[in-house]
Amino acid sequence: MSTETFEFQVEARQLLQLMIHSVYSNKDVFLRELVSNASDALDKLRLEKLWDDSLDADVSDLHIDIDVDTDARTLTVQDNGIGMSYDEVGRLIGTIANSGTAKFLQELQEAKDAAGAEGLIGQFGVGFYAGFMVADEVTLVTRRAGESQGTRWTSRGEGTYTLETVDDAPQGTSVTLHLKPADPENQLHDYTSPWKIREIIKRYSDFITWPIRMVVAEGSATAGKSDEASAAEGSEAEAPEAETLNSMKALWARPRGEVSDDEYHELYKHIGHDWRDPLETIRLQAEGTFEYQALLFLPAHAPHDLFARDSKRGVQLYVKRVFIMDDCEALLPPYLRFVKGVVDAADLSLNVSREILQQDRHIEMMRRRLTKKVLSTVKEMMTKDQDRYATFWREFGTVLKEGLVTDPENRDVLLSVASFASTHHDTEPTTLKQYVERMKDGQDDIYYLAGESRQSIENSPHMEAFRDRGIEVLLLTDAVDEVWADAVGEYEGKKLRSVAKGRIDLDAEDEDTSGGEREKQTEEYAGLLGWMKEQLDGDIKEVRLSSRLTVSPACVVSDAHDLTPALENMYRAMGQ
Ligand code: ADP
Ligand code: MG
Repeated sequence: MSTETFEFQVEARQLLQLMIHSVYSNKDVFLRELVSNASDALDKLRLEKLWDDSLDADVSDLHIDIDVDTDARTLTVQDNGIGMSYDEVGRLIGTIANSGTAKFLQELQEAKDAAGAEGLIGQFGVGFYAGFMVADEVTLVTRRAGESQGTRWTSRGEGTYTLETVDDAPQGTSVTLHLKPADPENQLHDYTSPWKIREIIKRYSDFITWPIRMVVAEGSATAGKSDEASAAEGSEAEAPEAETLNSMKALWARPRGEVSDDEYHELYKHIGHDWRDPLETIRLQAEGTFEYQALLFLPAHAPHDLFARDSKRGVQLYVKRVFIMDDCEALLPPYLRFVKGVVDAADLSLNVSREILQQDRHIEMMRRRLTKKVLSTVKEMMTKDQDRYATFWREFGTVLKEGLVTDPENRDVLLSVASFASTHHDTEPTTLKQYVERMKDGQDDIYYLAGESRQSIENSPHMEAFRDRGIEVLLLTDAVDEVWADAVGEYEGKKLRSVAKGRIDLDAEDEDTSGGEREKQTEEYAGLLGWMKEQLDGDIKEVRLSSRLTVSPACVVSDAHDLTPALENMYRAMGQ
């Protein structure tokens, strides 16, 4: 068989350099990443076999094996899952598809010190490449289920990798790490110790639904076990038995009191492909005619592709502990697409399709209930933990505001958890409730101005009169803002009004320029107004006197129901 050598894609090479000279102190997580990939591969195979019974693959004993060779200093994680074809190995392992990675590397270069870099690695995660934190060479042998030929991938992580075909590869994937020399100073990082492996699996991967087994060879069996147990094993000698390291219990099916926050967080990291803890864990159990359990997570950070058309969205669907599908969009509305988690329904068919889910009445009810639960959790967060709420809204507020347009049923609660930048404070956002409490006597409406940035809005001539009179204005900078403000129209009976639209008469309570005075002025300036209209003919509808300016001589205003210039731009950008 010929061996071909390939170069890593630039981003991949940078990331590998980082792993090799890792500043990341928690190296244990490399095993979590490999086990997580193996578990995904087993899920995928089971599903593929379910859909296509003719697939030539053995699914009778799906599992993950961990094998340690103390003398050779190797650690192997092997699964008999879906595997990869020759092309897939090159594509999936040799490159980095994740668009967030480029941004990550950029930020990393800007990180001034090791602590900053470590924080960033902890945030982004590096999946398969994490192996290079502890190994100076990695070999992956894989054969895709249904195919006859396998592939071997090898790399020392230094710019190139090799690929060759192999004839005798078992179905699935094995990843062998040639561990870096032991550090005599730090026994804690001895990954050839069965005790260490047990501990890591227990901590990070206990909930994995496939058995994670380890065969402990004679001699190393004693590590981490009681004297009595090792004495008993010693007398049996020879034939080492595989030991299952994880409990395989579905966390969502266990009573809350039995599960620690850390355990929930590890599940989140596995399904969310995130290295960070979630912001909030949400549990829900529904009994009755349509039973289900849900374990949902609010991430602490928005993914980079939150607004990409083809971004992954949705939670995982299980039926009675059996994984059915990823990215199940039917279970939550699009504006909650960042929520991660698991929904386990008892009464669905294992063959349920996305199309069926979209139309199922029970699923529709489930979606409504889960939506309410997520929103009530956000509301609770708002009263109980201001900081956490602030983080949440900073990361996901823009998406949630889409719900103000698309989900009238939950509009009220969405309005109550929303917050906005405002002229009231330079940095602290305000809720609508707080705005209304601060409204001046005689002020009937809630004023806002939409624009590209806080600064450009504050410099707008539309703001002059409001600033002068000390009237608070919400400063809205998301593209969705004008859409929802238009759709919602009012809050608690107070109209939402753009200060850039229609007639705004701030002088209703200002005697001197109201009523007759204004008429007199209009007469007086009729000549000027007429002349201006003539000059700008075709571009404008009307020229009128206004009390909204104090410094600028003139400004352009839309009709109350016209698109504002910003909104026109947005629609144009969307190709409409
Ligand atoms: P992620 O798991 O977040 O996609 P990884 O770097 O961990 O990122 O893995 C990259 C890809 O390589 C996976 O998405 C998967 O397609 C493939 N892969 C990794 N390990 C395995 C495995 N054990 N079996 C099959 N495919 C794998
Ligand atoms: Mg992974």
